[in-house]
Amino acid sequence: MGHTYFIECSRCDYSSSEITLGVGFLFGNVDDILHGLKGQDKKTVQFLNNRKTIHHHYSRGYSLYQCSNCHSLENKCHLVLYNSKGDLLFETESYCDPCQKNRDYMPEDSENETVPGLHCPKCHHNKLHISLGALWD
Ligand SMILES: [Zn+2]
Ligand SMILES: [Zn+2]
Repeated sequence: MGHTYFIECSRCDYSSSEITLGVGFLFGNVDDILHGLKGQDKKTVQFLNNRKTIHHHYSRGYSLYQCSNCHSLENKCHLVLYNSKGDLLFETESYCDPCQKNRDYMPEDSENETVPGLHCPKCHHNKLHISLGALWD
């Protein structure tokens, strides 16, 4: 079960595109999770999957990442993969190119249906309005 959000800033005209959070089909197998991955992540996981090196996987589903420097946002599917020895093979990272650092994972407060600590990517104000979109499973 997951849901979509829109983030709007109460100070400037920023409004996000649709943000997906949560898990649905993602608790299944790696083949299912591959559908949620994009770009280089998808290529890497596909490669590991084809070589049958993946022994164990963990996903917290679609996650929100924010750069602590420029406050840029990325919404992507989180996944961690281990081989049979328990070595880490792959972990989703959200890299901010302009700042040359990884974005921080922003955990969702599902009880209050909000994401604490988010800043507006445009004016850097922290009074954001989060509106709940569609539910999915
Ligand atoms: Zn940045
Ligand atoms: Zn703003």
